This record gives sequence, C-alpha cells and structure tokens, in this order.
Amino acid sequence: MKVAVFGTQSYDKEFLEKESKDSSHKLVYFDSPLSIMTAPLAKGFDAVCVFVNDDVNGEAIRAIAELGVKIIALRCAGYNNVDLDEAKRQNIKVVRVPAYSPHAVAEYTVALILTLNRKTHKAYNRVREGNFSLERLTGFDLYGKTVGVVGTGKIGQIFAGLMKGFGCRILALDAYPNKKLEKEGLLKYATLSDLLEQSDIVSLHCPLTPETKHIIDDQTVWRMKQGAMLINTSRGGLIDTEAVIRALMKGHLGYLGMDVYEQEEELFFKDLSETLISDEKLMQLVTFPNVLVTGHQAFFTDTALTQIAKVTIDNLTAFEKGEVLENEVTL
Ligand code: NAD
Repeated sequence: MKVAVFGTQSYDKEFLEKESKDSSHKLVYFDSPLSIMTAPLAKGFDAVCVFVNDDVNGEAIRAIAELGVKIIALRCAGYNNVDLDEAKRQNIKVVRVPAYSPHAVAEYTVALILTLNRKTHKAYNRVREGNFSLERLTGFDLYGKTVGVVGTGKIGQIFAGLMKGFGCRILALDAYPNKKLEKEGLLKYATLSDLLEQSDIVSLHCPLTPETKHIIDDQTVWRMKQGAMLINTSRGGLIDTEAVIRALMKGHLGYLGMDVYEQEEELFFKDLSETLISDEKLMQLVTFPNVLVTGHQAFFTDTALTQIAKVTIDNLTAFEKGEVLENEVTL
C-alpha cells in the first residue's frame, strides 16, 4: 500500500523504515501534520499515518476520503484527535497502537515526580555554576505518602506498582475498577473527592473523553491537599490550565508536572527556540519554580518506538490482506 506519513520526525522515519523493509508498503514522509490544509498531500495514497497532534477532524476526513484514502493508521494509543463518526460515514478504517510501552510512560511519570520533589534539574544547573548550596532544594520522602491514580489501565497500574515500590499507599479511580488490583493489595479504589482530599500526589492516566475533560478544574484542584503534587502524562485536556495556574498562584497546588498540554498542537514536537512563543499560559507556567513542563516525551524510548513502528506496519498489512483488524478503533 502507499502510505502518507504525516507529522514525520527523524525518529519516526528511522523506526518505520526499519520495520517496513520486508513489507510491500511504500511509505512517503511529510513533515506537516495532517489537517484540512495538508490533506491534499494524501492524493494517490491508500493510507495515512498520523500521530497525537494531527487534526483529523471531519473536514480532513472528508477530504482524504475523496482522494481515495481507505485507512487512518494512528501511531499512538489515544484517538481523541480523530472524528470517528465521520470516518465511519466515509467508510475509512481507523487503527491504532493500543499499547507500545506502558512502562515507558509509567517510568517517566516517576521521573517527573522525583525531579519536582528532589529538584535534581536545579541541582544540575547549580553545580555546573559552582553553586553547592542546598538552600531551597528540600524534598520529601515518598515513603508513606498517598498517591492518587486516576485511570488504572495499562499505564496507571504499572505506575501504581512503581509507587508502591517506594512504600506509598495507592488510592485509585477508574470508570471500570479492576477488582483484581484491589484484591492483590496494590491499591484501593476511592471516589474522586476522597482521592483528591487524601493524596499527596495525584497522577492522571485516563483517556481524554467528554467525561474526563477538565477533570481537574477550579473545583477539583481545590479539593486537593494543600501543597500536593499534580502530574499529567496523559492528555492536556484533562486539566483546565487556567484553574491550575490560579491554584499555583495562591500557593494551594504545591507542584505541577505536565508532559502534555491542552494547547500543545501548535508547540510540541517542534524546535521553536528561535521563535517568539505567544502562548501566555504556557509561558507563565514555565516561570513557576514548582512547575515542570516537558513536550510529550513520556513514551519516548527505543522500546516504544520499535513497538509503535512494528504494530503500525502490522495494522496496515492486516488491512491490505483483508484480515481482522485487531487494533481497529470503533465507536
Ligand atoms: P488504558 O486504556 O489501558 O487505560 C485507561 C484507563 O482509564 C482505563 O482503565 C479506563 O477504564 C479508565 N477510564 C476511562 N474513562 C475514565 C473516567 N471517566 N474516569 C476514570 N477512569 C477512566 O490506557 P493507557 O494505555 O493506560 O493510557 C492512558 C492514557 O495515557 C492514554 O489515554 C493516553 O492519553 C496517555 N498516553 C500518553 C503518552 C505520553 O507520551 N505522554 C503515551 C501513551 C499514552
């Protein structure tokens, strides 16, 4: 099949080329993400391959359907950026990579927590400048603290296990609680209010859906313990950014670690170091000493990139052969 790969970064090409070398697919790479503006590039292709920030809305889907595209292969797990209703109407299949390395994301979540807590990023800079003072580098022991995990799917449960290893008590919330995890003694399910009120660290691991959009807003952020830490490695839209800025300004929220951001589409995965960034909310956030923002890199390990490329190519091959699409996203 001819596949138009949108939003290509050098590592996408490297790993996709490796995994597709024994397949019959012909992959052509475009730097721009897919949107209504770039959809014409899909002319002559059977498939498009997209990532988290491509804007696969109804208009873009109608445009690629007219050009003869039959399948959208997401090289990620989340599919909140795809209009599934329109894809169905246009008879375009949508496939994804449901799990590439939940360990990569769970481990990175711990990295954000440890960095914010023990301030290794600040110590690194200080020591390079000959500043060996420990002033304002105080952290807290994780041992004995309560961690709230919102979403106990693949990533959430691995993360819960890692935090349990530090000696933390785990409270959890899930739309479909996994009683096995409770029986094994890993965690205890609680209501959102109890989880927020009792947790020293709250970490979000649920998908972005209409129900979870702004799950952390002006009300819920103030339900969190005074000085608690909020971590989001899931999707930016889970947090109302303005609400957390207000809670940070008032000193209620103690720490914020985010690898995802509600308006990240215009920013992340690009080198904008020579550009004036006009996103005032993000610029304000990065000035807080107790905030750590990274550019959607929690998944970014060679294990995950290999798995993403392999499953993406397998999904396309299964479609070409008319096999059952085990990774199809359906309504
Ligand atoms: P998963 O589907 O295995 O688990 C998600 C869990 O959330 C499920 O148990 C589900 O029941 C639960 N859930 C759904 N709606 C809920 C609600 N309203 N309230 C509470 N829980 C709810 O997904 P996963 O593989 O663990 O991934 C979790 C999220 O992590 C993904 O949705 C994706 O957005 C994000 N992610 C981020 C990165 C990154 O690089 N930062 C990489 C991969 C995934």
